[in-house]
Amino acid sequence: MDLKNKKIVVLGLANKRSIAWGILQNLKARGATIGICYFHQSNLKRVKPLAEEIEADFYIEADVTKTEEIENLHNVIKEKWGTFDGLVHSIAFSPSEEFNKRFHECSKKGFFETLDISAFSLVSLCQVLKPLFSNNFSIISMTYYGSKKVLPGYNLMGVAKAALESITMYLAHDLGRDGIRVNAISAGPIKTLAAVGIPNFSTFLDNIKDHSPLKKNVTIQDVGNLASFLLSDNSSSITGQVHYVDAGISIVTK
Ligand code: NAP
Repeated sequence: MDLKNKKIVVLGLANKRSIAWGILQNLKARGATIGICYFHQSNLKRVKPLAEEIEADFYIEADVTKTEEIENLHNVIKEKWGTFDGLVHSIAFSPSEEFNKRFHECSKKGFFETLDISAFSLVSLCQVLKPLFSNNFSIISMTYYGSKKVLPGYNLMGVAKAALESITMYLAHDLGRDGIRVNAISAGPIKTLAAVGIPNFSTFLDNIKDHSPLKKNVTIQDVGNLASFLLSDNSSSITGQVHYVDAGISIVTK
């Protein structure tokens, strides 16, 4: 699969363990032109060497809760590329204390913060960046099965992932008339920075190894392979879907 004619922006690179890094490496191997967004200045020392390794055209800071920072991203893309062909949303956040409560004790502030960063931000990005979307534009985001089944402790993040999957459908329906596709990837658990705050995370990893059809955990490279397909013209009739990369665990009752 060749992505030589594709210019793609990836948001959510924190470090080498990030799912965004697996996607970026895969995009690079297929010849895509790449732009990177990271959350905060404090990430720069980890992001810079990675961005240089894959020869990104640019790497800039953007907090997705701040419209002016998304507008800055718009201006950078416009100046560097004019238009672009794909957007990867690999971002989530919920305050750490929200993972360690009974669900009915979640706070309103935590609810809105989690939903804002992890779900609404996909809509914000489309609102600001849409004028720069090329024909056959493809958008992908990252979700998890905790949207559909209760995973004790996943709490507000499960609610946010349910919202993100619903947003995927509604955006796909709305933007389809403009030739824009929107899909979500539901990855099995992977040990990243975002994942370590989830209670009993290592038992999820063991569970996949023991009970999934493929008896293994998934990697950021596995996610990268699917991401490249969904960003390519090979998936040009696929939109509004949640695609599982989870060693098959979502079909098993246990
Ligand atoms: P990660 O490396 O920690 O990536 C999450 C990214 O979101 C980080 O770069 C983080 O920046 C960024 N972020 C947080 N708040 C932000 C904001 N306001 N604006 C912009 N960026 C912000 O963890 P990951 O596991 O790769 O997560 C990527 C996506 O995959 C998330 O949507 C996650 O829910 C999803 N996912 C993960 C798994 C898993 O098991 N790891 C499974 C399925 C789906 P900072 O690090 O600076 O906070």
